[in-house]
Amino acid sequence: MSTAVSQLEHTYADAVPDLVVHWTAARTTNPSAVVVNDDLAAELGRDPADLRESGLLTGTVPEGVQPVAMAYSGHQFGMYQPRLGDGRALLLGELVDPQGRRHDLHLKGSGRTPFARGGDGKAALGPMLREYLMGEAMHALGIPTSRGLAVSLTGEDVPRDTGLLPGAVLARVASSHLRVGTFQYAAASAGPDVVRALADHAIARHHPESTGYLDFYRRVVHAQAALVAQWMLVGFVHGVMNTDNTTISGETIDYGPCAFMDRYDPQTVFSSIDHAGRYAYGHQPPIARWNLARLGEALLPLIDPDTDRAIEQATAVVQEFGEVYERHFQAGMAAKLGLRDPDPDLVADLLALLHAQQVDWTTFFRAENPRDLFLDRDAYDAWAARWHPELDREHVNPVYVPRNHLVDEALTAAEQGDLGPFQEILEVVSRPYTVQPGRERYAEPGSGPFVTYCGT
Ligand code: AMP
Ligand code: MG
Ligand code: MG
Repeated sequence: MSTAVSQLEHTYADAVPDLVVHWTAARTTNPSAVVVNDDLAAELGRDPADLRESGLLTGTVPEGVQPVAMAYSGHQFGMYQPRLGDGRALLLGELVDPQGRRHDLHLKGSGRTPFARGGDGKAALGPMLREYLMGEAMHALGIPTSRGLAVSLTGEDVPRDTGLLPGAVLARVASSHLRVGTFQYAAASAGPDVVRALADHAIARHHPESTGYLDFYRRVVHAQAALVAQWMLVGFVHGVMNTDNTTISGETIDYGPCAFMDRYDPQTVFSSIDHAGRYAYGHQPPIARWNLARLGEALLPLIDPDTDRAIEQATAVVQEFGEVYERHFQAGMAAKLGLRDPDPDLVADLLALLHAQQVDWTTFFRAENPRDLFLDRDAYDAWAARWHPELDREHVNPVYVPRNHLVDEALTAAEQGDLGPFQEILEVVSRPYTVQPGRERYAEPGSGPFVTYCGT
Protein backbone atom coordinates (compact mmCIF):
# COMPACT_ATOMS: atom_id res chain seq x y z
CA MET A 1 0.00 0.00 0.00
CA SER A 2 1.36 3.43 -0.91
CA THR A 3 2.05 5.89 1.89
CA ALA A 4 -0.55 8.24 0.41
CA VAL A 5 -3.20 5.58 0.93
CA SER A 6 -2.14 4.36 4.33
CA GLN A 7 -2.13 7.93 5.66
CA LEU A 8 -5.78 8.60 4.87
CA GLU A 9 -7.98 9.20 7.92
CA HIS A 10 -11.74 8.96 8.30
CA THR A 11 -12.74 11.16 11.21
CA TYR A 12 -15.86 12.41 9.44
CA ALA A 13 -17.25 8.96 8.66
CA ASP A 14 -16.48 7.91 12.23
CA ALA A 15 -18.16 10.99 13.76
CA VAL A 16 -21.37 10.86 11.74
CA PRO A 17 -21.82 7.38 10.24
CA ASP A 18 -25.48 8.22 9.55
CA LEU A 19 -24.39 10.87 7.07
CA VAL A 20 -22.24 8.72 4.79
CA VAL A 21 -22.68 5.75 2.49
CA HIS A 22 -19.68 3.50 1.95
CA TRP A 23 -19.17 3.28 -1.77
CA THR A 24 -16.47 2.90 -4.34
CA ALA A 25 -15.53 4.47 -7.64
CA ALA A 26 -16.40 3.14 -11.05
CA ARG A 27 -13.47 1.40 -12.72
CA THR A 28 -11.66 3.64 -15.14
CA THR A 29 -10.54 1.79 -18.22
CA ASN A 30 -7.61 3.90 -19.33
CA PRO A 31 -6.88 6.74 -16.91
CA SER A 32 -4.28 9.39 -17.66
CA ALA A 33 -3.36 12.51 -15.73
CA VAL A 34 -3.93 15.80 -17.55
CA VAL A 35 -2.69 18.15 -14.86
CA VAL A 36 -1.21 17.41 -11.44
CA ASN A 37 -0.73 20.08 -8.79
CA ASP A 38 2.78 19.31 -7.53
CA ASP A 39 2.88 22.54 -5.48
CA LEU A 40 -0.26 21.57 -3.64
CA ALA A 41 1.00 18.01 -3.09
CA ALA A 42 4.13 19.51 -1.54
CA GLU A 43 2.06 21.83 0.68
CA LEU A 44 0.18 18.78 1.85
CA GLY A 45 3.50 17.16 2.66
CA ARG A 46 2.93 14.46 0.07
CA ASP A 47 5.36 13.14 -2.50
CA PRO A 48 3.80 13.89 -5.91
CA ALA A 49 5.30 10.69 -7.36
CA ASP A 50 3.77 8.59 -4.59
CA LEU A 51 0.41 10.30 -5.11
CA ARG A 52 0.57 9.67 -8.85
CA GLU A 53 1.38 6.01 -8.35
CA SER A 54 -1.27 5.48 -5.70
CA GLY A 55 -4.11 5.80 -8.21
CA LEU A 56 -5.84 8.24 -5.85
CA LEU A 57 -5.65 11.01 -8.42
CA THR A 58 -6.88 9.16 -11.45
CA GLY A 59 -10.04 7.67 -10.03
CA THR A 60 -8.78 4.12 -9.72
CA VAL A 61 -9.41 3.77 -6.04
CA PRO A 62 -6.64 1.62 -4.63
CA GLU A 63 -7.08 -1.22 -2.18
CA GLY A 64 -7.19 -0.12 1.42
CA VAL A 65 -9.11 3.12 0.75
CA GLN A 66 -12.59 3.35 2.26
CA PRO A 67 -14.39 6.01 0.25
CA VAL A 68 -17.77 7.37 1.25
CA ALA A 69 -20.45 9.38 -0.50
CA MET A 70 -21.55 12.24 1.76
CA ALA A 71 -25.24 12.86 2.34
CA TYR A 72 -26.66 16.36 2.22
CA SER A 73 -29.79 18.16 1.19
CA GLY A 74 -30.17 21.74 0.17
CA HIS A 75 -32.10 24.58 -1.35
CA GLN A 76 -31.43 24.68 -5.08
CA PHE A 77 -32.52 28.04 -6.50
CA GLY A 78 -34.65 28.43 -3.39
CA MET A 79 -36.36 25.03 -3.63
CA TYR A 80 -35.70 22.53 -0.88
CA GLN A 81 -34.39 19.16 -2.07
CA PRO A 82 -34.40 16.71 0.83
CA ARG A 83 -31.83 14.35 -0.65
CA LEU A 84 -28.92 15.56 -2.74
CA GLY A 85 -25.57 14.19 -1.59
CA ASP A 86 -22.47 13.20 -3.53
CA GLY A 87 -24.14 11.84 -6.65
CA ARG A 88 -20.90 11.59 -8.59
CA ALA A 89 -18.25 12.22 -6.00
CA LEU A 90 -16.54 10.40 -3.15
CA LEU A 91 -14.69 11.43 -0.06
CA LEU A 92 -11.58 9.26 -0.24
CA GLY A 93 -10.41 10.28 3.20
CA GLU A 94 -8.65 13.04 5.08
CA LEU A 95 -5.03 14.12 4.92
CA VAL A 96 -3.25 15.94 7.72
CA ASP A 97 -0.57 18.30 6.39
CA PRO A 98 2.78 19.07 8.07
CA GLN A 99 1.18 22.05 9.86
CA GLY A 100 -1.41 19.73 11.37
CA ARG A 101 -4.26 21.01 9.21
CA ARG A 102 -6.81 18.48 8.06
CA HIS A 103 -8.00 18.35 4.42
CA ASP A 104 -10.60 16.27 2.63
CA LEU A 105 -9.40 14.41 -0.43
CA HIS A 106 -12.39 14.23 -2.71
CA LEU A 107 -12.92 12.69 -6.12
CA LYS A 108 -15.47 14.15 -8.54
CA GLY A 109 -16.76 12.35 -11.62
CA SER A 110 -16.06 8.92 -10.16
CA GLY A 111 -19.33 7.21 -11.07
CA ARG A 112 -22.89 6.94 -9.80
CA THR A 113 -23.56 6.67 -6.08
CA PRO A 114 -26.86 6.05 -4.26
CA PHE A 115 -27.33 9.85 -4.42
CA ALA A 116 -27.03 10.03 -8.21
CA ARG A 117 -30.76 10.36 -8.92
CA GLY A 118 -31.00 10.75 -12.72
CA GLY A 119 -27.34 11.60 -13.26
CA ASP A 120 -24.70 9.40 -14.85
CA GLY A 121 -22.16 9.99 -12.11
CA LYS A 122 -19.62 11.21 -14.62
CA ALA A 123 -17.91 14.50 -15.37
CA ALA A 124 -16.60 16.00 -18.57
CA LEU A 125 -13.07 17.29 -18.97
CA GLY A 126 -14.02 20.94 -19.55
CA PRO A 127 -15.92 21.52 -16.29
CA MET A 128 -13.27 19.68 -14.26
CA LEU A 129 -10.51 21.81 -15.76
CA ARG A 130 -12.63 24.90 -15.11
CA GLU A 131 -12.93 23.95 -11.44
CA TYR A 132 -9.17 23.32 -11.25
CA LEU A 133 -8.33 26.65 -12.90
CA MET A 134 -10.78 28.69 -10.85
CA GLY A 135 -9.56 27.15 -7.60
CA GLU A 136 -5.93 28.00 -8.45
CA ALA A 137 -6.91 31.55 -9.45
CA MET A 138 -8.84 32.09 -6.22
CA HIS A 139 -6.02 30.64 -4.17
CA ALA A 140 -3.51 32.95 -5.85
CA LEU A 141 -5.85 35.88 -5.12
CA GLY A 142 -5.73 34.94 -1.46
CA ILE A 143 -9.36 33.80 -1.27
CA PRO A 144 -10.21 30.67 0.74
CA THR A 145 -11.02 27.85 -1.66
CA SER A 146 -10.93 24.17 -2.41
CA ARG A 147 -8.11 23.31 -4.82
CA GLY A 148 -7.62 20.76 -7.52
CA LEU A 149 -4.90 18.21 -6.90
CA ALA A 150 -5.26 16.62 -10.32
CA VAL A 151 -7.51 16.26 -13.31
CA SER A 152 -7.35 12.95 -15.17
CA LEU A 153 -9.02 11.66 -18.28
CA THR A 154 -10.91 8.45 -17.60
CA GLY A 155 -10.48 7.16 -21.15
CA GLU A 156 -14.24 7.14 -21.68
CA ASP A 157 -16.51 9.65 -23.36
CA VAL A 158 -19.54 11.01 -21.55
CA PRO A 159 -22.74 11.98 -23.31
CA ARG A 160 -23.85 15.59 -22.75
CA ASP A 161 -26.40 17.66 -24.66
CA THR A 162 -23.63 19.13 -26.79
CA GLY A 163 -22.49 15.64 -27.80
CA LEU A 164 -19.93 13.15 -26.56
CA LEU A 165 -17.25 14.75 -24.41
CA PRO A 166 -14.04 13.34 -22.94
CA GLY A 167 -14.73 12.04 -19.42
CA ALA A 168 -12.57 13.13 -16.51
CA VAL A 169 -12.20 12.98 -12.75
CA LEU A 170 -11.06 15.79 -10.52
CA ALA A 171 -9.20 15.03 -7.31
CA ARG A 172 -9.63 18.01 -5.04
CA VAL A 173 -8.84 19.03 -1.52
CA ALA A 174 -10.84 21.27 0.77
CA SER A 175 -10.55 21.93 4.46
CA SER A 176 -13.80 19.96 4.49
CA HIS A 177 -16.92 19.40 2.44
CA LEU A 178 -19.29 20.29 5.27
CA ARG A 179 -22.06 22.39 3.81
CA VAL A 180 -25.12 24.19 5.06
CA GLY A 181 -26.94 21.38 3.26
CA THR A 182 -25.18 18.77 5.41
CA PHE A 183 -26.78 20.34 8.50
CA GLN A 184 -30.12 20.62 6.73
CA TYR A 185 -29.98 16.90 5.92
CA ALA A 186 -28.97 15.95 9.45
CA ALA A 187 -31.76 18.06 10.97
CA ALA A 188 -34.44 16.81 8.60
CA SER A 189 -33.48 13.15 8.30
CA ALA A 190 -31.20 12.07 11.11
CA GLY A 191 -32.33 13.82 14.30
CA PRO A 192 -30.86 16.12 16.94
CA ASP A 193 -28.14 13.72 18.17
CA VAL A 194 -26.65 13.57 14.70
CA VAL A 195 -26.90 17.36 14.30
CA ARG A 196 -25.00 17.66 17.55
CA ALA A 197 -22.32 15.18 16.48
CA LEU A 198 -22.01 16.99 13.17
CA ALA A 199 -21.73 20.37 14.88
CA ASP A 200 -19.11 19.02 17.30
CA HIS A 201 -17.08 17.69 14.37
CA ALA A 202 -17.42 21.02 12.51
CA ILE A 203 -16.42 22.99 15.59
CA ALA A 204 -13.34 20.88 16.23
CA ARG A 205 -12.34 21.15 12.62
CA HIS A 206 -13.14 24.71 11.61
CA HIS A 207 -14.12 26.87 14.54
CA PRO A 208 -12.40 25.39 17.59
CA GLU A 209 -12.57 28.69 19.52
CA SER A 210 -16.37 28.47 19.58
CA THR A 211 -17.75 28.88 23.07
CA GLY A 212 -20.99 27.07 22.22
CA TYR A 213 -23.33 26.24 19.35
CA LEU A 214 -24.64 29.78 18.97
CA ASP A 215 -21.10 31.07 18.85
CA PHE A 216 -20.23 28.37 16.30
CA TYR A 217 -23.12 29.62 14.18
CA ARG A 218 -21.82 33.18 14.55
CA ARG A 219 -18.37 32.11 13.35
CA VAL A 220 -19.81 30.45 10.25
CA VAL A 221 -21.87 33.58 9.52
CA HIS A 222 -18.79 35.76 9.88
CA ALA A 223 -16.59 33.44 7.79
CA GLN A 224 -19.12 33.45 4.95
CA ALA A 225 -19.55 37.23 5.17
CA ALA A 226 -15.78 37.64 4.84
CA LEU A 227 -15.67 35.16 1.95
CA VAL A 228 -18.45 36.77 -0.06
CA ALA A 229 -16.90 40.22 0.48
CA GLN A 230 -13.71 38.85 -1.08
CA TRP A 231 -15.64 37.48 -4.04
CA MET A 232 -17.23 40.88 -4.57
CA LEU A 233 -13.88 42.64 -4.41
CA VAL A 234 -12.46 40.56 -7.27
CA GLY A 235 -15.69 40.48 -9.28
CA PHE A 236 -16.31 36.77 -8.83
CA VAL A 237 -19.76 35.34 -9.56
CA HIS A 238 -20.16 31.86 -8.06
CA GLY A 239 -23.23 31.10 -10.12
CA VAL A 240 -24.79 28.32 -8.01
CA MET A 241 -25.05 29.60 -4.45
CA ASN A 242 -27.36 26.82 -3.34
CA THR A 243 -27.21 25.91 0.34
CA ASP A 244 -25.44 22.68 -0.61
CA ASN A 245 -22.63 24.73 -2.13
CA THR A 246 -22.22 26.97 0.93
CA THR A 247 -19.48 25.73 3.25
CA ILE A 248 -19.18 25.72 7.00
CA SER A 249 -15.43 26.42 6.71
CA GLY A 250 -15.88 29.65 4.73
CA GLU A 251 -14.09 28.27 1.68
CA THR A 252 -15.33 28.55 -1.89
CA ILE A 253 -16.37 25.17 -3.29
CA ASP A 254 -18.20 23.66 -6.25
CA TYR A 255 -17.17 25.79 -9.16
CA GLY A 256 -19.84 25.30 -11.79
CA PRO A 257 -21.00 28.04 -14.13
CA CYS A 258 -18.90 30.62 -12.30
CA ALA A 259 -16.97 33.47 -13.84
CA PHE A 260 -15.30 36.80 -13.24
CA MET A 261 -17.25 39.89 -14.22
CA ASP A 262 -15.75 42.13 -16.89
CA ARG A 263 -17.55 45.48 -16.92
CA TYR A 264 -19.11 46.36 -13.60
CA ASP A 265 -22.79 45.52 -13.42
CA PRO A 266 -24.49 44.15 -10.31
CA GLN A 267 -26.92 42.21 -12.54
CA THR A 268 -24.11 40.16 -14.10
CA VAL A 269 -25.11 36.51 -14.50
CA PHE A 270 -23.17 33.89 -16.43
CA SER A 271 -25.05 30.70 -15.72
CA SER A 272 -27.26 29.43 -18.51
CA ILE A 273 -29.63 27.93 -15.94
CA ASP A 274 -30.03 31.05 -13.79
CA HIS A 275 -32.86 32.60 -15.77
CA ALA A 276 -34.15 34.78 -12.96
CA GLY A 277 -30.72 36.10 -12.02
CA ARG A 278 -31.07 34.80 -8.46
CA TYR A 279 -27.30 34.36 -8.21
CA ALA A 280 -26.29 37.54 -10.02
CA TYR A 281 -23.10 39.26 -8.83
CA GLY A 282 -24.94 41.89 -6.80
CA HIS A 283 -27.27 39.37 -5.15
CA GLN A 284 -24.50 37.30 -3.61
CA PRO A 285 -24.39 38.95 -0.15
CA PRO A 286 -28.15 38.67 0.53
CA ILE A 287 -28.19 35.13 -0.88
CA ALA A 288 -25.35 34.09 1.42
CA ARG A 289 -27.28 35.51 4.34
CA TRP A 290 -30.41 33.65 3.26
CA ASN A 291 -28.40 30.41 3.08
CA LEU A 292 -27.01 31.05 6.55
CA ALA A 293 -30.52 31.53 7.89
CA ARG A 294 -31.21 27.97 6.71
CA LEU A 295 -28.18 26.83 8.71
CA GLY A 296 -29.59 28.64 11.73
CA GLU A 297 -32.84 26.71 11.37
CA ALA A 298 -30.99 23.40 11.36
CA LEU A 299 -29.10 24.41 14.52
CA LEU A 300 -32.12 25.64 16.51
CA PRO A 301 -32.42 22.60 18.83
CA LEU A 302 -28.75 22.98 19.78
CA ILE A 303 -29.05 26.70 20.44
CA ASP A 304 -31.86 26.58 22.96
CA PRO A 305 -34.42 23.92 23.98
CA ASP A 306 -37.03 26.68 23.86
CA THR A 307 -37.65 27.14 20.13
CA ASP A 308 -38.82 30.74 20.39
CA ARG A 309 -35.73 31.69 22.31
CA ALA A 310 -33.52 29.77 19.87
CA ILE A 311 -35.10 31.61 16.92
CA GLU A 312 -34.55 34.94 18.60
CA GLN A 313 -30.87 34.23 19.23
CA ALA A 314 -30.21 32.75 15.78
CA THR A 315 -31.96 35.70 14.14
CA ALA A 316 -29.78 38.16 16.00
CA VAL A 317 -26.68 36.29 14.82
CA VAL A 318 -27.65 36.07 11.16
CA GLN A 319 -28.41 39.79 11.26
CA GLU A 320 -24.75 40.37 12.01
CA PHE A 321 -24.03 39.26 8.46
CA GLY A 322 -24.74 42.68 6.93
CA GLU A 323 -22.45 44.57 9.25
CA VAL A 324 -19.59 42.06 9.02
CA TYR A 325 -19.92 41.88 5.25
CA GLU A 326 -19.90 45.67 4.97
CA ARG A 327 -16.85 45.96 7.19
CA HIS A 328 -14.88 43.50 5.05
CA PHE A 329 -16.11 44.97 1.79
CA GLN A 330 -15.35 48.56 2.77
CA ALA A 331 -11.93 47.65 4.15
CA GLY A 332 -11.18 45.82 0.90
CA MET A 333 -12.39 48.71 -1.24
CA ALA A 334 -10.30 51.14 0.78
CA ALA A 335 -7.25 48.96 0.09
CA LYS A 336 -8.12 48.73 -3.60
CA LEU A 337 -8.34 52.51 -3.75
CA GLY A 338 -5.18 53.04 -1.70
CA LEU A 339 -7.04 54.75 1.15
CA ARG A 340 -6.03 54.59 4.78
CA ASP A 341 -9.63 54.57 5.97
CA PRO A 342 -12.83 53.22 4.45
CA ASP A 343 -14.94 55.78 2.61
CA PRO A 344 -18.35 54.25 1.85
CA ASP A 345 -19.67 57.37 0.08
CA LEU A 346 -16.70 57.51 -2.26
CA VAL A 347 -17.17 53.80 -2.96
CA ALA A 348 -20.91 54.10 -3.60
CA ASP A 349 -20.34 56.91 -6.08
CA LEU A 350 -17.54 54.99 -7.79
CA LEU A 351 -19.76 51.93 -8.19
CA ALA A 352 -22.53 54.04 -9.71
CA LEU A 353 -20.04 55.61 -12.08
CA LEU A 354 -18.44 52.31 -13.13
CA HIS A 355 -21.89 50.90 -13.79
CA ALA A 356 -23.13 53.89 -15.77
CA GLN A 357 -19.92 54.06 -17.81
CA GLN A 358 -19.63 50.28 -18.29
CA VAL A 359 -16.06 50.20 -17.03
CA ASP A 360 -14.19 46.92 -16.64
CA TRP A 361 -13.91 46.07 -12.94
CA THR A 362 -10.42 44.57 -12.87
CA THR A 363 -8.89 47.06 -15.30
CA PHE A 364 -10.06 50.13 -13.41
CA PHE A 365 -8.09 49.39 -10.26
CA ARG A 366 -4.77 48.76 -12.06
CA ALA A 367 -5.10 51.32 -14.85
CA GLU A 368 -2.30 53.86 -15.20
CA ASN A 369 -4.77 56.36 -16.61
CA PRO A 370 -8.14 55.34 -15.28
CA ARG A 371 -9.71 58.49 -16.75
CA ASP A 372 -9.24 57.01 -20.24
CA LEU A 373 -11.68 54.24 -19.34
CA PHE A 374 -14.60 56.64 -19.00
CA LEU A 375 -16.68 58.03 -21.81
CA ASP A 376 -17.99 60.80 -19.58
CA ARG A 377 -14.72 62.37 -18.43
CA ASP A 378 -16.44 65.15 -16.51
CA ALA A 379 -18.26 62.62 -14.36
CA TYR A 380 -14.98 60.81 -13.71
CA ASP A 381 -13.15 64.05 -12.91
CA ALA A 382 -15.83 65.04 -10.41
CA TRP A 383 -15.42 61.73 -8.63
CA ALA A 384 -11.61 61.65 -8.88
CA ALA A 385 -11.35 65.09 -7.31
CA ARG A 386 -12.44 63.40 -4.09
CA TRP A 387 -10.05 60.43 -4.45
CA HIS A 388 -6.70 60.80 -2.72
CA PRO A 389 -4.85 57.47 -2.76
CA GLU A 390 -2.03 57.28 -0.25
CA LEU A 391 -1.09 53.61 -0.19
CA ASP A 392 0.47 51.21 -2.65
CA ARG A 393 -2.31 49.40 -4.49
CA GLU A 394 -0.43 46.94 -6.70
CA HIS A 395 -0.47 44.05 -4.26
CA VAL A 396 -4.23 44.16 -3.71
CA ASN A 397 -5.45 44.73 -7.27
CA PRO A 398 -4.91 41.82 -9.66
CA VAL A 399 -3.79 42.42 -13.22
CA TYR A 400 -5.14 39.02 -14.22
CA VAL A 401 -8.29 37.17 -13.38
CA PRO A 402 -9.49 34.19 -15.44
CA ARG A 403 -11.37 36.10 -18.11
CA ASN A 404 -14.39 34.15 -19.21
CA HIS A 405 -13.73 34.33 -22.94
CA LEU A 406 -10.16 33.08 -22.43
CA VAL A 407 -11.25 30.31 -20.05
CA ASP A 408 -13.74 29.12 -22.66
CA GLU A 409 -11.08 29.26 -25.35
CA ALA A 410 -8.66 27.22 -23.20
CA LEU A 411 -11.26 24.62 -22.27
CA THR A 412 -12.41 24.20 -25.86
CA ALA A 413 -8.81 23.63 -26.94
CA ALA A 414 -8.29 21.14 -24.10
CA GLU A 415 -11.35 19.18 -25.16
CA GLN A 416 -9.79 18.93 -28.60
CA GLY A 417 -6.55 17.62 -27.12
CA ASP A 418 -4.53 20.87 -27.03
CA LEU A 419 -3.57 21.68 -23.45
CA GLY A 420 -1.29 24.60 -24.36
CA PRO A 421 -3.84 27.40 -23.81
CA PHE A 422 -4.97 25.84 -20.50
CA GLN A 423 -1.40 25.61 -19.22
CA GLU A 424 -0.78 29.21 -20.19
CA ILE A 425 -3.88 30.70 -18.57
CA LEU A 426 -3.19 28.59 -15.49
CA GLU A 427 0.30 30.10 -15.25
CA VAL A 428 -1.03 33.62 -15.79
CA VAL A 429 -3.74 33.50 -13.12
CA SER A 430 -1.40 31.79 -10.66
CA ARG A 431 0.56 35.09 -10.45
CA PRO A 432 -2.32 37.56 -10.62
CA TYR A 433 -0.56 40.63 -9.22
CA THR A 434 2.54 40.47 -11.42
CA VAL A 435 2.60 42.08 -14.85
CA GLN A 436 3.68 39.31 -17.23
CA PRO A 437 5.24 40.73 -20.41
CA GLY A 438 3.78 39.35 -23.61
CA ARG A 439 0.59 38.33 -21.88
CA GLU A 440 -1.35 41.57 -22.34
CA ARG A 441 -4.35 39.81 -23.84
CA TYR A 442 -4.96 38.04 -20.53
CA ALA A 443 -5.56 41.41 -18.87
CA GLU A 444 -8.10 42.56 -21.43
CA PRO A 445 -11.83 42.21 -20.96
CA GLY A 446 -13.88 40.18 -23.36
CA SER A 447 -16.47 41.85 -25.52
CA GLY A 448 -19.27 39.94 -23.69
CA PRO A 449 -21.96 39.28 -22.73
CA PHE A 450 -21.04 35.67 -22.05
CA VAL A 451 -23.08 32.76 -20.95
CA THR A 452 -21.30 29.97 -19.15
CA TYR A 453 -22.93 26.79 -20.23
CA CYS A 454 -23.90 24.95 -17.09
CA GLY A 455 -22.13 21.81 -18.22
CA THR A 456 -21.17 19.05 -15.84
P1 AMP B 1 -23.84 20.58 -8.25
O1 AMP B 1 -24.73 21.35 -9.18
O2 AMP B 1 -22.59 20.08 -8.93
O3 AMP B 1 -23.54 21.30 -6.98
O4 AMP B 1 -24.62 19.25 -7.88
C1 AMP B 1 -25.90 19.23 -7.32
C2 AMP B 1 -26.29 17.80 -7.05
O5 AMP B 1 -26.42 17.05 -8.24
C3 AMP B 1 -25.32 17.04 -6.18
O6 AMP B 1 -26.07 16.14 -5.40
C4 AMP B 1 -24.49 16.29 -7.22
O7 AMP B 1 -23.85 15.17 -6.68
C5 AMP B 1 -25.55 15.92 -8.24
N1 AMP B 1 -25.00 15.72 -9.58
C6 AMP B 1 -24.55 16.67 -10.44
N2 AMP B 1 -24.14 16.11 -11.59
C7 AMP B 1 -24.30 14.78 -11.48
C8 AMP B 1 -24.07 13.65 -12.34
N3 AMP B 1 -23.54 13.79 -13.56
N4 AMP B 1 -24.37 12.42 -11.84
C9 AMP B 1 -24.90 12.27 -10.63
N5 AMP B 1 -25.15 13.27 -9.78
C10 AMP B 1 -24.86 14.53 -10.19
MG1 MG C 1 -22.52 21.06 -5.33
MG1 MG D 1 -27.24 47.14 -16.06
